[in-house]
Amino acid sequence: MAKKPELPDVWTHEPRKVLAFSAGDKVADIDTRATPGFKGSKSDAPDLLLERCAEYAELQEMLYARSREGDNRSILLVLQGMDTSGKGGITKHVVGSGNPQGIRYTSFGKPTEEETKHNYLWRIRRALPAAGHIGVFDRSHYEDVLIVRVHNLVPQDVWDKRYEEINRFENKLVADGTTVVKVALCISLGEQKKRLMERLERPDKYWKYNPSDVDERMLWPKYMEAYQAVFDRCSTEHAPWFVVPADRKWYARLAITELLIEALTSLHLTWPPADFDVEGEKKRLAAT
Ligand code: AMP
Ligand code: MG
Repeated sequence: MAKKPELPDVWTHEPRKVLAFSAGDKVADIDTRATPGFKGSKSDAPDLLLERCAEYAELQEMLYARSREGDNRSILLVLQGMDTSGKGGITKHVVGSGNPQGIRYTSFGKPTEEETKHNYLWRIRRALPAAGHIGVFDRSHYEDVLIVRVHNLVPQDVWDKRYEEINRFENKLVADGTTVVKVALCISLGEQKKRLMERLERPDKYWKYNPSDVDERMLWPKYMEAYQAVFDRCSTEHAPWFVVPADRKWYARLAITELLIEALTSLHLTWPPADFDVEGEKKRLAAT
């Protein structure tokens, strides 16, 4: 039997419902410290995350197990957000609680020399999850309408066509069996300052710091405008955007765990049955 989704009762509303971007929503109105749909407290979070990650991990392994017998479905988690928004933490603490055999992580930075020779979707296609896998995109094709738009790295008529192109690309992905979960981690300018400062105060965090992060901060309004366009133009029925307030890391992690559990549950997974005679095998083995 496939498992029924059971949302812990600390949630008053399903994360996928309260966090889905709706037409007309404004980025400027996002309360980045809010915890939509959640009535528990921060002190509930560690135990709850552990428990829900175990649920996620079981379903994720089931997805992988199913692919071994021909199920071609997969999940793609697209993570976008400004520097320090917590994309790495989602990868490490949430997705990373699963079985690495079935996880494919890719981070997208400034295109390499080879990548610039191709269309912007070339490197994206190469990183798509195989059957049974959860693909994680730490940044994604959306950078090609975010940083590229903010810095005019290509002319407007070029980036402007990409929104529709991305919708077509994602529709095809979904039609081919990939559930696309797009998450934008939203922090405030002030929270980012705090987190960048922490990176500068801790030698174990220097590796995450990039002096250009400060320059990008100065362009915050332009980035917010670019994010607004992404949500307005690329929230589709097949691949909606989830806008996750992320000033409270514990909330963002819990919410995204639920989004993944929901995506997995909607696949109605079950453990693959034995394709051999279990009792017969027990006897055979016992006799050895
Ligand atoms: P990080 O994720 O902190 O390692 O930083 C990666 C950087 O690469 C970010 O500043 C991104 O905006 C940038 N980046 C990612 N994709 C592109 C792209 N297609 N064109 C230009 N810059 C990009
Ligand atoms: Mg960075």
